[in-house]
Amino acid sequence: MNQSDIDTLRSQVLSPRSHFIGGRWVAASEGGQRDVLSPIDGAVLTQIAEGTPADMEAAIAAARAAFEDGRWSRRAPAERKKVLLKLADLIEKHALELAVLGVRDNGTEITMAMKAEPMSAAGTFRYYAEAIDKVYGQIAPTADSVLGLIHHAPVGVVGAIVPWNMPLMIGSWKLAPALATGNSVVLKPAESASLSLLKLAELAAEAGVPDGVLNVVTGSGRVVGEKLALSMDVDIMVFTGSGATGRRLLEYSARSNMKRCYLELGGKSPNIVFNDAPDLSEAAKVSAGGIFRNAGQICIAGSRLLVQEDIHDEFVAELVKHAEAMRVGNPLDLDTQIGAVHSISELESNLDFVAKAEAEGAERRTGDGRILEETGGYYMAPTVMTGVKPTDNLFQNEVFGPVLSVTPFKDEEEAIRLANSTVYGLSSGVWTSNLSRAHRMIAGIRAGVVHVNTYGGSDLTVPLGGVRQSGNGHDKSLHAFEKYLDLKTAWIKL
Ligand code: ADP
Repeated sequence: MNQSDIDTLRSQVLSPRSHFIGGRWVAASEGGQRDVLSPIDGAVLTQIAEGTPADMEAAIAAARAAFEDGRWSRRAPAERKKVLLKLADLIEKHALELAVLGVRDNGTEITMAMKAEPMSAAGTFRYYAEAIDKVYGQIAPTADSVLGLIHHAPVGVVGAIVPWNMPLMIGSWKLAPALATGNSVVLKPAESASLSLLKLAELAAEAGVPDGVLNVVTGSGRVVGEKLALSMDVDIMVFTGSGATGRRLLEYSARSNMKRCYLELGGKSPNIVFNDAPDLSEAAKVSAGGIFRNAGQICIAGSRLLVQEDIHDEFVAELVKHAEAMRVGNPLDLDTQIGAVHSISELESNLDFVAKAEAEGAERRTGDGRILEETGGYYMAPTVMTGVKPTDNLFQNEVFGPVLSVTPFKDEEEAIRLANSTVYGLSSGVWTSNLSRAHRMIAGIRAGVVHVNTYGGSDLTVPLGGVRQSGNGHDKSLHAFEKYLDLKTAWIKL
């Protein structure tokens, strides 16, 4: 990847996009379009279709028809594998185009976007494609007079709703295992970050995913998202986004066909630094990256730093140094380390969190609020707030922006108590050179992921999922298959 290739793509005019339903590009039934703004400069980038309930019904019908006639669901796994491997190759071939497209509507710095979006998406499709012809059913240990077979059956029609941060990566975490297992999918991207997923649908068709097997409907969550989740003909929902929407999906499920809902929600992940960390300077650097990359807009961001009290001042000073050295700027410049905040409303919400924290007595150690306003884009300086009390708003609630909350602790017991004192349980980090302490912390912290002496950067081989109000179910790893396959018993009298 070099700057001149990026520069060729960054100003390309983008024509308005339609839904992708039944293998065709389809305009919204009422002709509506929605502007897509770029967080880079606040300007209108293009338009997407403003989906209606009728559009969503058409997509669900296309997915159902494709599933029932077996054009994909009854193909041999090895054949689905071939198609999905081809899709992985196509994603890689179009990686820069996909990455730039995604950055233009969501603001992630291109260095991170390239790895985390198309390259990770290609890896995800390859992983599940390779895995699908290695999944066996079981024979139950019954008496000789009967045969108990345990089949894995695709669930049917999967409704997938994904957010604006890392749409290709998160979208692929859901699409790849869902498609590999033979399901049909209706995908609803976030209204402000649909472009790279629409391109993915185009590549999927080129790779040979049959018409109707992958459908994408764009538009408002409250209109098309709700219609999808309330459908009697959708078998499961897979979702990444806010707790408020997750709660609604459960409600829609209860009001319709009681479909299973797998939710990956927010976090307020504790990153815990003990005085015996192997390398405090490395811990400070990685911790700064763990909250500030992508302007803090990562669900597992280590947004709640807990530091042992005797190293608190020294550690915070080092971390502030790293934060101030990170270059905030145009996400399409290769030397940018922190890109744009996704939207003006996100930016305002971030600033409000800081103001409230100050009102509750926290101290702003670095961070000048909104910066680079003259660009028209939405940028915010990485912000470190110390003296945050466990009862404070900033300690308890997810900002989803470049704002780090810092709180001192005395000992291991207090660290675990503080770590577990929010409603969330997504990610966490522990820095210590004491092996026994590391294992006690792994056991004590209520979270889906515990990083030890690092933060972030895991790969596809391990599951990601939250506990408590951070959600349920897992993306990534072979465990993700469990969501998309039902167990079916055949009980045969011999
Ligand atoms: P975020 O804070 O990431 O914007 P949201 O939960 O609002 O979180 O959005 C995540 C996804 O959920 C988006 O695709 C959005 O359109 C969708 N969404 C929002 N509200 C609803 C809803 N009531 N029903 C279904 N989907 C929704």
